[in-house]
Amino acid sequence: MMPTYSPPELLPVRGEGSYLYDEEGNKYLDFMAGIAVNSFGHCHPYLIETLTKQANELWHTSNVFRIGNGERLAERLVEHSFADHVFFANSGAEAVECAFKAARKYHHSNGASERMRIISLKGAFHGRTISTVAACKVPAHCDGFFEGDLGFDQVEYGDMEALQAAVTDKTAAIIMEPVQGEGGIRPATQDYMQAIRDLCDATGTLLIHDSVQCGFGRTGKLFTYENYDIAPDIMTLAKGLGGGFPVGACLTNKKVGDAMIFGTHGSTFGGNPMATAVANAVMDLMHADGFLDSVVERGQYLQDGLQKLIEQYPTVLESTTGLGLMIGLKCKVENTKLLLGARAKGLLLAKGGNNMVRMLPPLNISTAEADEALQKVADVCEELLAAA
Ligand SMILES: *Cc1c(COP(=O)(O)O)cnc(C)c1O
Repeated sequence: MMPTYSPPELLPVRGEGSYLYDEEGNKYLDFMAGIAVNSFGHCHPYLIETLTKQANELWHTSNVFRIGNGERLAERLVEHSFADHVFFANSGAEAVECAFKAARKYHHSNGASERMRIISLKGAFHGRTISTVAACKVPAHCDGFFEGDLGFDQVEYGDMEALQAAVTDKTAAIIMEPVQGEGGIRPATQDYMQAIRDLCDATGTLLIHDSVQCGFGRTGKLFTYENYDIAPDIMTLAKGLGGGFPVGACLTNKKVGDAMIFGTHGSTFGGNPMATAVANAVMDLMHADGFLDSVVERGQYLQDGLQKLIEQYPTVLESTTGLGLMIGLKCKVENTKLLLGARAKGLLLAKGGNNMVRMLPPLNISTAEADEALQKVADVCEELLAAA
């Protein structure tokens, strides 16, 4: 394999619910969930049943033919969101690629072909393809990969004046994560969300919500924008959408989707029968009575617990932020120390920007599992205190 990753020695071989087991039989409480992907933990019986049934019927035909599961999933996504059109991809970055293409194509087909530029916010993460890294402008992700800026501008997060100044007659769209993920958990404020929507409306700029990480139930709403009641024009989904099976989606309102006419975009695997079968099943689970509300309650429970730990260990932990089960814990010590300490105690957490660790557990964790995670974080804090 290319040396693009540097994983630890442990080799996961089996998953069950919120737990992961390595080849030596060590057990880990998985509060990383494949980076906010395994929305219902590992090997959920209903998802296994769905995939197994589909595997016995039909795996792949390509988009040359109609895909029944995809049509059904698209209808359901449209029914429950602002959107009128859906394009299925295989990953988050591909969903964002589709969003960029749709935004530019919309203006192009409406006689404004000069509107090509897209503005992103500092701290954003939109993927690892050429255009998604160009959008985020992180030097380590960009250096050596392209020339020029590929039509992307960026402004400081939270700076509305800078954003207003950056929107010109060449701007096609603004892209933002309603809750920043990789950059460190940062939920947008209601005012910020509204100000960006208003700016877009006033200037004919399209608003893209990259909800790849925060979307599909993670924040306690099916789609993150529902927390704000402010709809984008374009929205991307991926990570949690397939509950562990690779699938992405780009949703648009009618005017944007209408511009993506026959032949303008495509994908061989996108929305294939397996991927869309399991995404439909994930959606079934999301719609179980009271489920999304329980995500909010679980998130609050964890954040309350973390708040107590922050008061207990003020030299180790600094603060907690989050929405639903997308939780950030900002550290006073180096975040990797907390991350590695937790792993040694059998708790998997995700790293985040801004010296955070992220808690991105399965959305169906039990109270006992939440308590177990909090206890392990407390144990690591004790250890780090003793070592200091
Ligand atoms: C992970 C992520 C992506 C990229 O998804 P991939 O499936 O890795 O391509 C894009 N946007 C956001 C907000 C993400 O968190």
